[in-house]
Parts: sequence; structure tokens; C-alpha cells
Amino acid sequence: MQVYISVDMEGIAGVVNWKETFHNGEDYDRFRKLMTAETNAAVTAAFDEGVDRVVVNDSHGSMRNILIEELDSRAELISGSPKPMSMVEGLDDSYDAVLMVGYHCMAGAPGVLNHTYTGSVLQYRVNERRLGEIGMNAAAAGHYGVPVAFVSGDDCTVTEAEDLIPGVQTAQVKEHVGRQAARSLHPQKARRLIYEGVRQALSGELPEAFQVDVPVVISVQFNTTSRADGSHLLPGAKRIDPLTVQYTAPDYITALRAARALLELGV
Ligand SMILES: [Zn+2]
Repeated sequence: MQVYISVDMEGIAGVVNWKETFHNGEDYDRFRKLMTAETNAAVTAAFDEGVDRVVVNDSHGSMRNILIEELDSRAELISGSPKPMSMVEGLDDSYDAVLMVGYHCMAGAPGVLNHTYTGSVLQYRVNERRLGEIGMNAAAAGHYGVPVAFVSGDDCTVTEAEDLIPGVQTAQVKEHVGRQAARSLHPQKARRLIYEGVRQALSGELPEAFQVDVPVVISVQFNTTSRADGSHLLPGAKRIDPLTVQYTAPDYITALRAARALLELGV
């Protein structure tokens, strides 16, 4: 059995502010250690469950956050950016399950540091359904028939995951108080919950893979019209209102690449 772990940072226990999540930000060095430790909780649980191989993808910001020297030595690490598939780089049908650690809820939902990919997106829709990063990446995994078995983050993240993927195991490591405030478990307790959640996820029946209908119609609603001005330059993209650009793709992998291009152009 092979397991793929995508690790974000906003949903790590204790993280409540953007400054804690970027290089040279206040306390960033503390929180990247906690991110590494939560990753290790998931890696250890996977190996304790008898998994043969674990690949970790650093999926936050620069994608150079996880301290490789502190990572469980049995895991492999994908890091750096840009990567063609970003938060799901290297994922394919050779994997049996995806675990999402440190995730956050979609833009406009009330949770800690909520956003969808960048701060400039108000809404991301796939075939009219509004998705955040859990859904964006679960759909990529679903393209390869791989289910998302576990998600950790705040209360809002857990709810979003459970709404999207019936049967997914979750670990709630904090409760949002506002977008930049939370009541958090101690990191040790958070790691314990993640460890137990991952063991349970991998020992039971895995959820169904999250698959979207094809062709895939994605739309990105930006927070300013100038971003849409840039974004709709992508050949094949259509501007459907002043803030929103739409793209139709034959499959979800192409759709995710197109979404990334729309966001890169919409700066
Ligand atoms: Zn992030």
C-alpha cells in the first residue's frame, strides 16, 4: 500500500496568523517545526498501519516549509515550487489513499485563514459546485481513482471535508474564533489525534474517490476586475461576468492546470 500526504500549514494546531506561515514571518520557524511534527504523526501512523511507502508533498506557500532533517526518515518529501500539480504534485494511480494534514476551509467560509489557493479568489466552482482546496485536490486524486481518507484542520475544515467526502476520517485540532483567531489543542494532543485518525482511516474501509463529471467546467471569481482582465487572456478562457472567468476542460487534471494558469495570470 502506498500513501500520499499533502501538507498545508494554515490548519496546523496553534497557527492563527499569516505571519506565522511565511518565510521571515514572525514565529515562522516555530510553526514550521510544528507542521513537520504533525506530518510525522501522519507518517508514523501510516507505517504503523503497515503501509509500504509514504510520499509527503509540502503544499504550502513556497512549498519549502517542512524540515526534511526532522521528517520521519521512512518518508520521501516533494518540496519547492512551482510544481506542475502544486498541492498534489506526483500523485497518480499508484497510490491507495491521500491524507491531507494542516488543511483549511474555502474562501468565505468562517474558519482560520480561510482562502482558496490565493487571497484573490472569492469563489472557485467546478461544474457549479463551490470547492475549496480540499475539493480541488480531492478531485485531482479522484481522477486517478484515489480516495481522500483523512483530513486535519480546524472545525470548519473538518465540516467541509465531511460534506464533500462521506466516510472520510478527520482530526479537528482547533476551533476558529475568527479568521485570525482560534482555540487550539496543544500540539502534542493534536499529533495524537492525527495519529489515531490516520490509523483508523487506513485500517477501515476507504471512502469512495471524489470524482467530478466531465467535461469539467471551472469558474474562478476574483476579488477585483483587474485580476479577471489578466486571467481571461488564457486561450480558451471565457469571461462570464466582470469578476469571473470560466474554462472548460476534458478532464479534471487539465482543469486544475487551467485553474492554476488562470490564477497566475490573474495577479
Ligand atoms: Zn497554505
